[in-house]
Amino acid sequence: MGSRLTVQFLLSALSAAQFPAPSVPEIAFLGRSNVGKSSLLNALVGEKAAKVSQTPGRTRAINFFQLSDEKHRPKLIFSDLPGYGYAKISKSISAEWPKFIEPYLAEREALKLCICLVDSNIPPQPSDGKLVEWLRHVGREFLVVATKTDRLSGNARTRNLAAIRREFELEAVLPISAKTGAGIKDLWSRIEDLDSESNN
Ligand code: GDP
Repeated sequence: MGSRLTVQFLLSALSAAQFPAPSVPEIAFLGRSNVGKSSLLNALVGEKAAKVSQTPGRTRAINFFQLSDEKHRPKLIFSDLPGYGYAKISKSISAEWPKFIEPYLAEREALKLCICLVDSNIPPQPSDGKLVEWLRHVGREFLVVATKTDRLSGNARTRNLAAIRREFELEAVLPISAKTGAGIKDLWSRIEDLDSESNN
């Protein structure tokens, strides 16, 4: 599916008033700064999305990208959320997150799936745990993706993925590497499932 879609930058929203009019299913990408989110977006839909999201001034915005089929029909929207994790975690997910982020995640009806990126190379992080806990609390469907798995040997990979599953109480974690492309097809098929569900 991914290869048939073309990506187009829609807009950067700095407040709820700037969100695009709800239309096609939206998929949010979330993770701590440096987790590999831009690299994953790049592997999924191409350089353009990653570049836009890393443009200074847009790193605190929600960046929306529209994916269209070969007949230019909009099929999906990817929303790239600001990286978290540098500031101390407060009562909510992260004190540094602008106020419109949580309402987007909690209330946006078009939002069908949150893709939560965690780094497979480091122990499970409390900030990631907070996010997962909070998404559960608001009843939001999510998928945890473990990034940069190419840096690990087979044993270490198995061990670290198990630690992530255990710590965040997950049934499954999807291992990916933007560098080698491992897991990218699997992620696309999860996204594809969602698209076909929404057409039923
Ligand atoms: P972001 O801040 O979450 O957007 O993270 P980036 O995509 O900019 O990646 C942060 C750093 O991790 C960069 O140095 C990337 O080259 C590196 N990185 C990202 N994905 C991978 C991966 O799959 N494998 C390896 N080895 N490095 C990666």
